Amino acid sequence: MIPGEWPVYGHTWAVRLLQSALHPETATAGNRRLSHAYLVLGAPQVGKTTFARAFAMALLCSNRQRSPCYTCRSCQLMAADSHPDFRILQPTVRADKEFVVDRQKGELRAEQAETLIRDVALRPMEGLRKVFLIQDMHLANPTFANKILKTLEEPPAHAILLVTARHRAELLSTIVSRCQVIELRPLDQPVIVGALQHGWQASAQEADLLARLCGGRLGWAVDQLHTPGRREERIEHLQLLWRLISADRLERLRFAGEMAMQRDNQRLFSMLETWVSWWRDVLLTQSKCDDACSNVDQRDRIAFHAQAIDQRVVCDYLLTLKRIEGYLRHTVNVRLALDVLLLNLPTLQQSA
Ligand SMILES: [Zn+2]
Repeated sequence: MIPGEWPVYGHTWAVRLLQSALHPETATAGNRRLSHAYLVLGAPQVGKTTFARAFAMALLCSNRQRSPCYTCRSCQLMAADSHPDFRILQPTVRADKEFVVDRQKGELRAEQAETLIRDVALRPMEGLRKVFLIQDMHLANPTFANKILKTLEEPPAHAILLVTARHRAELLSTIVSRCQVIELRPLDQPVIVGALQHGWQASAQEADLLARLCGGRLGWAVDQLHTPGRREERIEHLQLLWRLISADRLERLRFAGEMAMQRDNQRLFSMLETWVSWWRDVLLTQSKCDDACSNVDQRDRIAFHAQAIDQRVVCDYLLTLKRIEGYLRHTVNVRLALDVLLLNLPTLQQSA
């Protein structure tokens, strides 16, 4: 790594903004002072934690000119994930099997807030600063959020708090107003392609496919690349969709029942995401915008569906999918939602 460069792909504007706050003497534009609290917002797996960790590394680095320097003791401790002045608070997982919506079935709890408040007050062990990263603030329970308000507003001079969350609408306005907000946007496809090839040794073909599928979320693409079974899972979701398109109502309802019984949240939302990408591709092809398709390894089948299913039907079903997806995030009546989803699934009207 080059000293002074952050270990982050893309999000260049945000990196530059914080670099100029960190090194106001060398910044050419956008000179700002460091804030005591930052809120990093963005879609799941867009890179919020990676970004926050890189910022923490730069904040704790003892090289004041080019941080992170990757050579000082502090940088080495960060690289080894054992810096005593960097603390992460994560939502803790509930033991019950409630059918909740979020990928992480966790919560930031009151006792974590109390630990944080005690810890923030203690002096740093290595250098001049302590950095606290609070992950997924949208999963905080109200007690946690209220307890940390004062700390977030006025931490001791040595402490900097970094908070990540999906969207500001999911947070108390009192949390948002106490932080400098950094909103990370999805990365452009070429950035993802480059990152996957250079950082994760993906082939050009793999990188192109994943960059199209990931919606600008590098973390999602890396997960597909390196978690065993992830890529097969996508193909299974597609094959299931193709089978259900040709299935009768009875078989569709039987599948809805099985899926609801399984209560496998992660699989369900991953399936819905794949299905949305599929129908979007069909619609794009019908609109002669094939270049923008995501599932480029399945072009023939996309073309077939684009020809065999009416465009209005595809459009309506995409809207239904998005509506049901939103409904599933706020309901426990999964069976009803899946029945509606499956009964409305388009059928092939003409053979190609
Ligand atoms: Zn360093």
